[in-house]
Amino acid sequence: MLKQYLLTPGPTPVPPQVALKEALPIIHHRTDEFASIYKDISEGLKYVFQTKNKVYTLACSGTGAMEMAIVNLLSPNDEIVVASCGNFGDRWIEIAQSYGIKVVSVCVEWGEVVSPLQIEKTLKENPNIKAVFTTFVETSTGVVNDIKSIGKIVANTNAVFVVDAISGIVGQEFKTDLWKVDVVVSASQKGFMLPPGLAFITFSQKAKEMVEVSKLPKFYFDIKKYKKFHLKNQTPFTPPVTLIVALGETIKLIKAKKLNTFWNDCKLFSKATRKGMQALELKLFAKVPCEVVTTAVVPKNIGEKIVKILRKKYSVFIAGGQGKLKGRVIRFAHMGYISKADLLAGFACLEMVLSELGVNIEKGKAVAAFQEELSGE
Ligand SMILES: *Cc1c(COP(=O)(O)O)cnc(C)c1O
Repeated sequence: MLKQYLLTPGPTPVPPQVALKEALPIIHHRTDEFASIYKDISEGLKYVFQTKNKVYTLACSGTGAMEMAIVNLLSPNDEIVVASCGNFGDRWIEIAQSYGIKVVSVCVEWGEVVSPLQIEKTLKENPNIKAVFTTFVETSTGVVNDIKSIGKIVANTNAVFVVDAISGIVGQEFKTDLWKVDVVVSASQKGFMLPPGLAFITFSQKAKEMVEVSKLPKFYFDIKKYKKFHLKNQTPFTPPVTLIVALGETIKLIKAKKLNTFWNDCKLFSKATRKGMQALELKLFAKVPCEVVTTAVVPKNIGEKIVKILRKKYSVFIAGGQGKLKGRVIRFAHMGYISKADLLAGFACLEMVLSELGVNIEKGKAVAAFQEELSGE
């Protein structure tokens, strides 16, 4: 068994003090003890999401929370805008279409960011649009979208603004209320430093009004059920108690270190990681790179090979490309409990693997570029 270096954009490493909480005996979810933990995490989540509104904790992966947003806001034959710039943006389209929603898509090439002006124009041309869906950090390409500008535009219309912040939140600055985002979804296995299995969702007042008239079918994801139980600091169905207890601990860590510090760390790590990739002459894929994951283009479609050899020989886990980027790119995550030392190890091993695969690089260059970027700290 090799020591593992997990540098994937979900799941991310879990801090030991959080993992220890998962070993505690299960408590029953209809008890004061559980309610007290649930109350604390719900308060803490408001800080993490930067919102005054309730944040609900769900037992599903991030995609479940995406589906929850759609089924609670919309009615059959509603029209929405989806602004997609990658694999996860496209997921909004797939979910909406599977419920018979009419989608006006405002898509851009992968690697680009979605255009606020194009969204504004589309909303003007289609006055019946009920909601605008987009992605904060598009994890498949590594770009970050300008949520603040889009928020301003959508706030001037009757539509609600829904953002998938599954990978971005905690890792880089995201302000739900200030940026006028009506519905935000996220999940546990990225910036939250938890195992997969929890998702989160929050609704603004404007979104709640839409929920009241929504007619799409729903049962497990009916937000009204969650709202009723939330008042008692409970969930309508058996929650993943273990993960919720662990979430209590990560929220403690996030509050102690402060969101700002997480944001600054990711900013620095992303800058250093980009320098490392460039030192190996690997082109950066994202036009506007996010701060939680770096996507680099590799020669001759060897992306999958790199990922596999890193895993087998060094137990370094990075991500390859998704969908049409399969083989073409590699992705290094630098969020949550991923450290400078992890990334340095990742780069040193990446250099070995690139050499093994016959890519003409000078060993040590990426490590040196990464070190150089951190030395000013
Ligand atoms: C990881 C991710 C998802 C998918 O979440 P699951 O937890 O796998 O359902 C969706 N959107 C973005 C931006 C992501 O990074």
